Amino acid sequence: MKKVGIIRCQQTEDICPGSTDFKAAAKGSLAFEESGPVEIIGFVSCGGCPGKRAVQRASLMVDRGAEIIALASCITKGNPIGFPCPHREEMKAAIVKKIGSEITVLNWTH
Ligand code: SF4
Repeated sequence: MKKVGIIRCQQTEDICPGSTDFKAAAKGSLAFEESGPVEIIGFVSCGGCPGKRAVQRASLMVDRGAEIIALASCITKGNPIGFPCPHREEMKAAIVKKIGSEITVLNWTH
């Protein structure tokens, strides 16, 4: 079973428990269809706008064994209120630059 670290929007953290992320990870569904069921080894926020802390947090989760980093759908799709993160592309690019392209970075969770 692969290990995944999930990064979520700190703004959405106030209202969302992340239940659908945990369900999709446990079932290997939605964004985890290709990997199959995964073990969540970290579930952190971006640290707040503009999301710079996400880079170091992703790196630390990789150090702790994450083979996949997933940007939760609150960041990239704006779930559940339809307001995607305006910094999502920059955030992802900075994460990939830091952790390297061998680690899969998913653009969504559900
Ligand atoms: S940077 Fe993006 S993901 Fe992070 S709190 Fe702000 S809107 Fe949310």
